[in-house]
Amino acid sequence: MQFFLPNSSIFNLISEGISEGIIVVNKEQVIVAANSATEEMFLYKKDHLIGQSLDLLIPRRYHKGHDQHVTEFARQSKKRQMGRGRDLHGIRKNGQEFPVEVGLNPFEMNGETFVMALIIDITERKIKEKELSHWFRIFDESLNEIYVFNAQSFNFINVNKEAQRNLGYSLEELQTMTPIDIKPEMDRTEFLQLIDPILLDKNSKIKFETTHQRKNRTIYPVEVNLQLSAKGETEVFVAIILDITEQKSYTEKLEKKVDERTKQLTEALAKEKELNELKTRFLSLVSHEFKTPLSSILTSITLLGKYTQTEQQEKRDKHVTTIRNKVKYLDAILNDFLSVERLESGNENYKLETFPLSKVVNEVVYDANMLLKTGQKINYPEDIDDLIVQFDPKTLELALSNLVNNAIKYSPENTSIDLKIKKVDNNIVINIMDKGIGIPKEEQKHIFNRYFRAENALLTQGTGIGLNIAKQHLENLGASLEFSSEENKGSNFTVTIPKTPITTIQ
Ligand code: ADP
Repeated sequence: MQFFLPNSSIFNLISEGISEGIIVVNKEQVIVAANSATEEMFLYKKDHLIGQSLDLLIPRRYHKGHDQHVTEFARQSKKRQMGRGRDLHGIRKNGQEFPVEVGLNPFEMNGETFVMALIIDITERKIKEKELSHWFRIFDESLNEIYVFNAQSFNFINVNKEAQRNLGYSLEELQTMTPIDIKPEMDRTEFLQLIDPILLDKNSKIKFETTHQRKNRTIYPVEVNLQLSAKGETEVFVAIILDITEQKSYTEKLEKKVDERTKQLTEALAKEKELNELKTRFLSLVSHEFKTPLSSILTSITLLGKYTQTEQQEKRDKHVTTIRNKVKYLDAILNDFLSVERLESGNENYKLETFPLSKVVNEVVYDANMLLKTGQKINYPEDIDDLIVQFDPKTLELALSNLVNNAIKYSPENTSIDLKIKKVDNNIVINIMDKGIGIPKEEQKHIFNRYFRAENALLTQGTGIGLNIAKQHLENLGASLEFSSEENKGSNFTVTIPKTPITTIQ
């Protein structure tokens, strides 16, 4: 190696101990000295470098710019870092370019100006920087909110863009705040308790749900994942936060749907249960309720066959009446029962018709007359031909016949049953009154429950269905059924048919 510098041995001594490249150029930009590190960096032998223009070590495209910089630098002539604000590159003998950092030191020796350049190969650093900026971009551009805050003071150190956007605070504003400031549901004590496990076990993390309050005071639900980390010497918390507004509303919607479906299912099951119960009851009904009438029908028929004499006509008539009554009774409970089934399965078809009320009343009274006990009598208005109602005649007949049949059933012989009809505010009000056993006060509240029968009625045949279905059908059509009753005095059942669409014949 050959140096043109007078005290080259001192330069040699110093420069060889340094890992950075050192090149000395004269004012013509000719290399006058270089150390071994430069040799390794640029892959040129030192001997080759000495006497060459510095351009040899600079990629061609930078030559022009470099000359200008050198001229400028020589003019200012003071020690400085080169390439501030731009990337500097060197080129090796094999043509490979690499990033460098250059420090320039001008000096004079024997009246001549030299510049000593200290060159550092920053390839590794650049790779690291790139990597870092990659990680930073991931942090900053993450669609999760990421918060870094001091583990002692809790002050935010860095908060990524998404967090700033969702909260509506700038980074500068957030740097004066702590996580507690944005958690409306939590005070400092609660927050301390929450992070305690992480402080005890520094490798642990915690996950919790809470709410965040934006700058505009709106609140959103969040899931927080929190863990400890370090920023240099400082211990910091890193919180990754998920805005779970949509997840929450989705969950809520789902829960609502599940509730709805559960309700539907429960209802369907209850209906199913009710229908099953109905089947069971039907069987017991057939065995109980049908047995007595059927055996009395059988007895009457057997006896009928025995009364062959002409003068026994009265006896024959009696048995025919008995048979007719029993058949009517069986028909009625069968109708009631089928009606329950239709109500339960939702298969009831109402047909609204306009008809004279007398039509239904007469039919009900005619049929009921056959069931009267000795001395019983039904009083009913016979001057109602001008009362026209719009209703389902079958439903009205079912309701009225149930009420009149009950009045007969639950009254002793020699009493009268009164059927009264009046117009109140254009509604038609029908009363069925008897002087029978009445309904005990404490049992009155259950009387419309299906299958309910009062204690004092148990000696009389019955199913506990009639009142229940009558009320349900009437109410389905906007009518009502009420009653008042006193035990051992009698009962008064009231059917009210709504005024519209009721008209009176002229
Ligand atoms: P059922 O008459 O077949 O038992 P209902 O549903 O028609 O069934 O009546 C339910 C219960 O209400 C009867 O068992 C009886 O206790 C009572 N009840 C109904 N109508 C009268 C009435 N007019 N007088 C006394 N009790 C009555």
